[in-house]
Amino acid sequence: MKIENEDALDNLIICKQCFTLHEEVPIEDGTKACCSECGAILYRYDSKLIEHGLALSITGFIFFVLANLFPLVQIEILGHEQFITIPKTIFSLFESEFYIVGLICIFLIFIFPLMIFTINILLFILLKMERHEKLTKELLILLSHIIPWSMTDIFLISILVALVKLIGYAQIHMGVSFWALIVFVLIDLYIVKRLNLSELWMLRKRAFATKDEE
Ligand SMILES: [Zn+2]
Repeated sequence: MKIENEDALDNLIICKQCFTLHEEVPIEDGTKACCSECGAILYRYDSKLIEHGLALSITGFIFFVLANLFPLVQIEILGHEQFITIPKTIFSLFESEFYIVGLICIFLIFIFPLMIFTINILLFILLKMERHEKLTKELLILLSHIIPWSMTDIFLISILVALVKLIGYAQIHMGVSFWALIVFVLIDLYIVKRLNLSELWMLRKRAFATKDEE
């Protein structure tokens, strides 16, 4: 295969499992293209993906806000009650003078997840409207830098571990935010798995290709 220029690379797709290079061909709505060597899924075509992605991103955003507004857990030790919220957890790190840890936590469990969902919402709206081709490219590049740093799933697991350790010493009641955080993490995992970056680049390519044809 001879590559004439850089644009020709846009039509090639690499298999993530066996790294075989394939030429991207148009497929029917609702179907998927698989690797000829190992059978792994290369890409799918779902004409409703932008709408689904937008709906999921907005839902995830709402649950993220809910997770930050209400108490995560209510802990009762020897008649002493305490509500724990996500912002309170971060502030208590600063109060205990763990400034660097606090700062890292703000980015990993608050700023980056918030940015990812805001960028996703904006991106899907722009793709739906088929506008601002250059901005969507910049948003996707930004997204690729932030995604590896979103760690709400790890945060949720660490809360669960802490709660398991507290059982026996204290009475624990789950708050609204705890359930909101679980829903948010599930949506986050689903979006990362189903709408990964290569899928988003392809969505963008298709959205603007149909626009160019018109
Ligand atoms: Zn393969």
